[in-house]
Amino acid sequence: MQATIREVADWCGSSAIARLSGHADGIQLTGVSTDSRRVAPGHLFVPIIGERVDGHDYLAAAYRSGAAAALWESDRPQPDDASQLPLILVEDVIGALQALAAGYLSHTQAKVVGVTGSNGKTTTKDLLAAVLGTGFRVHKTEGNYNNHIGMPLTILSAPERTELFVLEMGMSEFGEIELLSKLAKPDAAVITNIGESHLLQLGSRRNIARAKLEILSGMKPGGMLTYYGQEPLIAEELAAIADSAALAARGINFLTYGETDNCALVAGNIDVSAEGTSFTVQDAPGIRFELPIPGRHNAINALAAIAIGRRFGLTDAQIAQGLQSVKPTSMRIERSLASNGAVVLNDAYNASPTSVKAAIDLVAGLTGYRNKWIVLGDMLELGPDEAAFHAQIGVYLTMDKTDRVLLYGPLSSHTNDAAKRHFAADRVLYFNDKNALIDRLLAELAPEDLVLVKASRGMRMEEVVAALNGGE
Ligand code: ATP
Ligand code: MG
Repeated sequence: MQATIREVADWCGSSAIARLSGHADGIQLTGVSTDSRRVAPGHLFVPIIGERVDGHDYLAAAYRSGAAAALWESDRPQPDDASQLPLILVEDVIGALQALAAGYLSHTQAKVVGVTGSNGKTTTKDLLAAVLGTGFRVHKTEGNYNNHIGMPLTILSAPERTELFVLEMGMSEFGEIELLSKLAKPDAAVITNIGESHLLQLGSRRNIARAKLEILSGMKPGGMLTYYGQEPLIAEELAAIADSAALAARGINFLTYGETDNCALVAGNIDVSAEGTSFTVQDAPGIRFELPIPGRHNAINALAAIAIGRRFGLTDAQIAQGLQSVKPTSMRIERSLASNGAVVLNDAYNASPTSVKAAIDLVAGLTGYRNKWIVLGDMLELGPDEAAFHAQIGVYLTMDKTDRVLLYGPLSSHTNDAAKRHFAADRVLYFNDKNALIDRLLAELAPEDLVLVKASRGMRMEEVVAALNGGE
């Protein structure tokens, strides 16, 4: 962001700027920071009120780091510090941050692509940015800054002259995607799939589909939604709202993608190795699209990038080149080598039943290894059926897909019970101590083996990967 303090105050919907001396009126703000330690000279300091700390207490520190102004909740006494840092008075800091991002975004006139879905948002976002980057100056969500605070911060961290934003939109409740969509006003959007994450809050997969479809609520007239065509719930819930007056009047276009013929954009000849994935699309059989991320589901995620790349006028050759160059965000099937040379696939960023099954399919499709190992930790936040979801994974794990299974965490005992039924006893092992699991794996993993590690973030299974890689 580059803007004057007046512009920023306007976008924030501020009632006034306090402590603004005459010459300070020309202040240029060069970015935004919520953490006083990360403030760079010229930044606007945004004091978020968190559970444990209140950013308002760090104004002096932000000033020392070079902040040029700060947001300030107007019902608070203004601090009596010597800095006399200009304060943009607002009713609510987070609301002002969101309004600021919306104002700045429409000021840039850049195009916006929004990405939501239960699994694959970050990966699809990275694929989209790589593809669209062949034709536009793209700014994308870093890491997982995908919520009501992270997404505005993403927007405000864009370099000048950004032409296109690729924004990840996450949610755990109704209303959250609506807020993000109305803020970002996407020209195009993706729903990657409907899984089981956040079942606890939303109650059913159908409700999850409804919540994801909120991404339409802020879409610009004439925009396009592309979505996974093999998930009937998206199509059904879309049909339920498709002829609502508001949606019809805005002339939104829809495009489905997947592996089946009912989809508009269809992938075929999918080939997966530990190095990456390649495939063709039905309407352009002459081109083989390749991406350096393994997994059948990543061919599907790539279809979303192809659909939107084409929508923005890129050629298939540009799109293919973009896909080839993608650098995945860490821990989404990140490939490395163990200290003994075995191939390690680190997918420990998160896990849900859908994504664990996708990971098992990935391993099932890989050949040329002496033994294939799947190391799973618990899937968290699944609600009252969590035990059944883990048992389903155990049913899904069969000997034709993998050679060895190591399980860790209280819920994974259900996976263990179910998997034990179709594996020899010593091929599926359960641990309630992560170090014991690591020791066993290090003792038995051969250089010609492959191991995939996956669990919910909270299980910290990247420690297993670090141990394999020779770290602590
Ligand atoms: P989060 O909600 O944490 O932001 P996300 O939606 O951004 O997650 P990614 O980080 O891209 O998703 O991927 C998370 C997991 O989902 C990975 O383990 C990946 O293997 C799996 N995954 C990715 N794409 C799909 C897909 N289309 N269908 C099923 N699983 C997928
Ligand atoms: Mg993500």
